[in-house]
Order: sequence, then structure tokens, then C-alpha cells
Amino acid sequence: MALKIYNTLSREKEEFTPITPGHVGIYVCGPTVYSDVHLGNCRTFISFDIIFRYLKYLQYKVRYVRNITDAGHLEGDRDEGDDKFSKIARLQQVEPMEIVQKYTLGFRHVMQLLNNLPPSIEPTATGHISEQIEMTQQIIANGYAYEVNGTIYFDVEKYNKEQPYGILTNRKLDDLLEGTRELGGQDEKRGRLDFALWIKAKPEHLMQWPSPWGMGFPGWHIECSAMSEKYLGKQFDIHGGGMDLAATHHTNEIAQSQACNHTRPANYWMHTNMLTVNGTRMSKSLGNGFLPEELFTGSHPLLDKAYSPMTVRFFMLQTHYRSTLDFSNEALQASEKGLKRLWEAYEVLNKFKVAGNAAAGDAELNAKCLQLIAAFDDNMNDDFNTAKVLATMFELVPVINSIKDGLIKPDALAPSTITLMQEKFKAYIEDVFGLKDNFSLGDDGKLSSVMELLIDIRKEAKLKKDFATSDKIRNQLTAMGINLKDEKDGGVSWSI
Ligand code: AMP
Ligand code: ZN
Repeated sequence: MALKIYNTLSREKEEFTPITPGHVGIYVCGPTVYSDVHLGNCRTFISFDIIFRYLKYLQYKVRYVRNITDAGHLEGDRDEGDDKFSKIARLQQVEPMEIVQKYTLGFRHVMQLLNNLPPSIEPTATGHISEQIEMTQQIIANGYAYEVNGTIYFDVEKYNKEQPYGILTNRKLDDLLEGTRELGGQDEKRGRLDFALWIKAKPEHLMQWPSPWGMGFPGWHIECSAMSEKYLGKQFDIHGGGMDLAATHHTNEIAQSQACNHTRPANYWMHTNMLTVNGTRMSKSLGNGFLPEELFTGSHPLLDKAYSPMTVRFFMLQTHYRSTLDFSNEALQASEKGLKRLWEAYEVLNKFKVAGNAAAGDAELNAKCLQLIAAFDDNMNDDFNTAKVLATMFELVPVINSIKDGLIKPDALAPSTITLMQEKFKAYIEDVFGLKDNFSLGDDGKLSSVMELLIDIRKEAKLKKDFATSDKIRNQLTAMGINLKDEKDGGVSWSI
């Protein structure tokens, strides 16, 4: 089964055919680095990380470009006023670039904790001012933009006379106009939907650059058009981002590229659905954002406990990227348990010894396992359905556990089936899903040794009735996001 991708442009699942065989170019709108990323943002970036990983698993040579928006994004996504960085910089009395640096580093750290691979290129808006100016000049030269007092606007109505502006979200210009306010006397724009490609800067504006139209700064949408063209070409394979970006940001990107180059920039437009809290989209402006850090330490007042980055990643994988996903303690606890169960079965599976090439003792069971394993790729080829792959994996978990517990004889499965299961579990769990051992955290097991030591000290303290020390160890570990659990058999287990 060939890879199929749901294309927002056609509102259909389409077979994926890259422009250059064997190669894929993908552009994803990155974060606006004026604040910490919240878990909703992380959902989008995890979804595209899985897509990046799966394309690589399919042996494509992938160039994945994810930008950093460090200029031009104005308050309330408008065309006038302060940009988001300068506003915070002014409040904190620091340089805007200090804000950019702080949140870029913070973003990369969170991406690393969540085990998202770094993109192939991570371009910044401020590093590509000349490309944005050039593109704006070309759009003016082609007749789709106009200047008013040093600001350049894109002429949406003119563009729409030749090609449908609302093509991405399937809306007519009249419907789009309905949601906008009438232009007033002071408005510079000719049309209500016109948006700025370049904005004249007031002298006090902190981030500004020279241009043919005087000092100014780029609009938010032009950066993605200019940077995707620079690194992926005038036409490339996939453009992605959160669903909230489709109606304006991506609609404007298509219009800009089409007006500049007379081609549609991307063949496939992919949009991830929103992470919600009690059904409402998680967003910084609504104040319902959970920060990754608050989850990893359990410090958010609405959380019952801490959850590891891998639990969070697994939680996201359990839902298809185009469905909404609601965030709750219960859902995270279930994910924590699910991941533990999967990981334990994975470790058991890896220990199965494979000898010779005997036929399966139980032909029916063997065929069932082979069928389930084949379904991994089929489900991913069906628009990256990670949720279905996991469900299929969980159908194999009881088989693995039954072999471990001696309920099924080890030779019930053919050695080749066991080898294939081992290979596919590894490829999916580690390479495609990017899950890693929660417990050693990739530190060569040092953390495990330290934990054993702490558990020992706590046990000794308890024996001596030194409850102050034993409680201190437990509480401080909890504060760090490490939970101790006293088991029935007297042992102690721990989880992050
Ligand atoms: P921003 O930093 O606001 O430009 O957002 C970065 C990315 O996160 C964009 O692709 C957004 O569409 C996406 N995003 C924002 N909020 C959510 C959410 N609640 N769930 C999923 N993705 C989101
Ligand atoms: Zn963008």
C-alpha cells in the first residue's frame, strides 16, 4: 500500500508522489519565540517529527525545514503596532534578541526532551530579510501589491479576480469579507483582506531594517514564503502547521508565492488538529496553556503528578494527528500505564532467543502475528495513523506476554516471525515513534544506579524509623518528577 496523505487543499487523502523521486521537501511553520512553547505547540511539532521520521523510514531523503519566527509577528497577528518580541523586550528592559535567544534555546531544549529530531534547516526570519524584500519587490512588479507611506500591502481582491484566494479552506471572498470590519478613514489598505508584506517602522520600533521603501520590517506571512522558496524551491512537496494557521497564514503564503512565482508553493498541505483542555483549544492568549516543564516536574496546580517526556509523547501518538486531543490527568495516567506495558513487552520480545528456521508450531497464531506486523506499515501509509499502529501493537502484547509466562510455547511462532517482530517493534518504537527508555533516559543507566542507591538509603532510614529522611527522599524525588511506588512484595519501583 502506497503512502496516502490527507491534503487540506483537496480535502481528500491523496497518494503521495514526490516532485523528485526518492526525495521529499517539507516545510513546517515553527514557533514564534517570544514565550515558552506550550503543550499544544508541542503536539504539532511531535506530529511532524513522526512524519519526518516515517518518511525517512520509507527511505526518502528528506529535507525538513522548520523556521523560527523571530521578527514580524505583531500583537494579535495584526499589521500595525509592536511586534511580540519588542513588547516583551521593552517590558523586561532587554534587547529583543535576548528574548529571541532565551525562547529559542528553551524551545530546542523541550524538543530534545521530547526526542524530536532537529530539522535539516532551522532558518530565522531575521536571517532572511533580504529574501523577504526581494520577494515583496517581485510581487509589486507582478502587480499584486502596493505601497502606502512605506508599508506594502498585498492586494487580495485583485489577486482573487484571477485565482481563488480562499482555496485552502474552500471559502469564497465574500464569505471571508463578512468576518472583517469596514475600513475607516485612517486605514491605509485598499481592501479589508489586504495584508502587509512589509511594514514601515516608527523611529522607536526596536527591530527595523533598511528597504527600498525606507526603514521597516517584514510582515509575518512573507517569511515562510521566502524561506521555503530559498531552501525547498518555488514548488515543493509538503507544507505543514497547526490547523489554526490554515485560514490566514497559509492562505496568505499561497497567495504570495503564487503572485510572485505563478506556482502553488506546496503540493500537499498538512494540518494538525488542536490539543484542547476541557474541549477548549490550548493557547497562550486564553491562559490555559500547560508548559512542558510543568508536566515534567508536576508543578502545575491542576496536575496530580509529574509525567515524563516519553509519557507525553506516547499520549500524543495515541490519537491521529487530524483529530482533536483533550488533555487531562486521567488521559496522561492511562498513557503512562500504556507506555509501561508496551515497553515491558518490547524488552521481553527483545530477549526471545531465535534459533534455526523451524516452521511455526501454531500456524494460525503465526499468520495472525504476521498480519498484525504488516498492518504497522499499512496504518502509517494511511495518512500516518499512529493511533492504529499502537492499537495493533497492543494486539501483539498479549502474545508476547503469554510466551514469557509459558502459556504459549516459544516455538509456537516461527523464528523468522519472531525476528520480524523484533525488527518491526524496534523500527517503530524507536525510529518512527521516537520513544526511548523512560528509565535510563539515555544516560547509560546511571540514573538507574543512583535510584537504586536512593531506594536503599530510604529503606535503611525506614528500618531505623528515621521517617524524616525517608519522607525527604520520597518528597524531593516527587518534586523532581520521579515517583516511588512501594510494591506489595516489599520492593520499590520508580517512574518518571
Ligand atoms: P506559534 O508559536 O503560536 O506560531 O505556534 C506554533 C505552532 O503550534 C503552530 O503550527 C500552531 O498552529 C501550533 N499550535 C498552537 N496552538 C496549538 C494547539 N492548542 N494544539 C496544537 N497545535 C497548536
Ligand atoms: Zn509559517
